[in-house]
Amino acid sequence: MYLTSNDTMDFSLSDHQKLTRDTVRQFMENEVRPGVRQRDREGRFPVGEIRKLAELGCCGMLVPEDWGGPGLDTVSYVLMLEEVARVDAAMATSLGVTNSAVQVPLLGFGAEAQKKKYLRRLATGEILGAFCLTEPQAGSDAAGIQVRAVRDGSVYRLNGSKTWVTNGSVAGVFIVFAKTDPDVGGKGMSAFLVEPSFKGFRVGRHEEKMGQLSSPSVEIVLNDCEVPAENRLGEEGQGLKIALSALDGGRIGIGALAVGLAQGALEESTKYAKQRRAFGKTIAEFQAIQWMLADMETELEAARGLVHYAAWLKDSGGRMGAASSKAKLYASEMVNRVVAKAVQIHGSVGYSRETDVERMYRDARVITIYEGTSEVQRMIIARDLGL
Ligand SMILES: Cc1cc2nc3c(=O)[nH]c(=O)nc-3n(C[C@H](O)[C@H](O)[C@H](O)COP(=O)(O)OP(=O)(O)OC[C@H]3O[C@@H](n4cnc5c(N)ncnc54)[C@H](O)[C@@H]3O)c2cc1C
Repeated sequence: MYLTSNDTMDFSLSDHQKLTRDTVRQFMENEVRPGVRQRDREGRFPVGEIRKLAELGCCGMLVPEDWGGPGLDTVSYVLMLEEVARVDAAMATSLGVTNSAVQVPLLGFGAEAQKKKYLRRLATGEILGAFCLTEPQAGSDAAGIQVRAVRDGSVYRLNGSKTWVTNGSVAGVFIVFAKTDPDVGGKGMSAFLVEPSFKGFRVGRHEEKMGQLSSPSVEIVLNDCEVPAENRLGEEGQGLKIALSALDGGRIGIGALAVGLAQGALEESTKYAKQRRAFGKTIAEFQAIQWMLADMETELEAARGLVHYAAWLKDSGGRMGAASSKAKLYASEMVNRVVAKAVQIHGSVGYSRETDVERMYRDARVITIYEGTSEVQRMIIARDLGL
């Protein structure tokens, strides 16, 4: 993190950023926390809660007012995701996909007519978006996807399947990546805006997962799926560029999600340590517990610094470079260390489905995997070092 002599260094939040954080925090405490454990048990998507968050502008935060969003900055966006994830990481994952992975590419690469048709409805939360890149045979190796798109007059016909599609069973529009020219590898990828009502589109298997149970992850089956040619996003061959640019910004959001979840786990652990008694004292009086909490807080603050710095860089229009990868890498590994300590501090209680830290432990695991694994982030950071 380097500042040149012309840069200013200011860690304070604007009044509007603070208002965003406080409003979302209050909403999450009052409207979401009471039902979060039960919804996790039932694997139930929070339709009503997300609709209300949409009224606060949280479904299209980065979209300008002209297109129905509040047009906020990336720092406000990460503050929102932190507050959501502090209570419900699964909900933050769903919001991250629709806000960042779907609306940002639509804003950047979409034709005017596509924005008219989809962006406003996404930004106001009338519909949610889904992002379909991963396939059974290709995850980290995005250029290795096999879904095929063939032009047939006024339509493209898409064939193949996508896996692990977040929001896949509830979304109103999907960005689907497919090969239009398989002979040229990544350069032959294109992106398409696909509606679930299109002929040949089907939601397949729901993944049975370890955590984040109320955020649906599904298979999407494309069987001669007919997509109007005007629904191609960007030019033919631009698909990989669109996917990578979406993931670049998306990683800041995943870092924020990790920070929020870690914050929630730290708060639960501090509260519990002050209540639980052993050997005639509260466990908070034992240095071993204090040191765990001190390490959790320190690592959390370090991760928050990386995430906010990456968000600030994005807002200032400077070269983001590997900043979003560093934020995602460190925050996602940090949250797994933090939730492990949170369970340890709770003892057997932390292993019980009756506590939030048990859910947080399961919810954290995927964060080093999705939107680019830790290994992929290290590859990007190493490349930035000129290696
Ligand atoms: C809950 C959940 C939600 C998801 N949501 C979405 C979504 O909405 N849309 C979507 O498109 N995808 C989604 N994904 C998929 C996710 O992005 C992929 O799982 C991820 O990119 C990793 O791909 P993979 O699982 O195929 O692992 P692989 O690519 O098979 O990797 C397996 C292992 O090999 C390592 N590896 C791979 N290549 C290298 C290399 N070159 N050097 C070193 N190590 C390497 C990986 O880091 C990993 O440890 C989701 C996944 C989960 C679990």
